[in-house]
Amino acid sequence: MGAMDKFSAVIATIRPDEPTPLERPGGVVLHHSGTRKDAPLQAIRSYHMAPRPEGKGWTELGYHWYLSLVGESWVAQAGRPENRRGAHAPGRNSWIGVCVAGDYHPRSDNPGDEPSPEMIDVLVNKLVDICRRHRISPALIRPHSDTGCEGGGPTDCPGHNLEAVLPEIREQVSILLGRKD
Ligand SMILES: [Zn+2]
Repeated sequence: MGAMDKFSAVIATIRPDEPTPLERPGGVVLHHSGTRKDAPLQAIRSYHMAPRPEGKGWTELGYHWYLSLVGESWVAQAGRPENRRGAHAPGRNSWIGVCVAGDYHPRSDNPGDEPSPEMIDVLVNKLVDICRRHRISPALIRPHSDTGCEGGGPTDCPGHNLEAVLPEIREQVSILLGRKD
């Protein structure tokens, strides 16, 4: 066994997504994919499940929910079952991970994607569903940038343009959760 194999074996034993049951999620972590808005769920799943170093070597998609453009419509698709710990945010893998396809972070050569009203609508409805079923307060819908990336460094995720509308998203979720119908 070479040094690299040994290293891989160690990584395999500590991978963060052992099929641990998740009984009471602490909140929701919002991510962006950093890809095109129509990147298929299967593409992200393949990357997460491919062995390291090409992929992440996880047992399933790291996120519990994945929103993307399918044809002309935004669609929320189930990823990792909600009753299993995620693999999306160090320290917050016991929270539900929701990833929105797109790259919402402006850079010097690119203003980044803007969240569309249609996407926000689908996201709000999915967040209402999650918060209602798990009795999560909308205040606990947090951006990934709260916790940092894998390895502990800072992250731009879910991007400035998406984070900027998070207060409005939380407010819409609150209003819808408060309705009895
Ligand atoms: Zn993220």
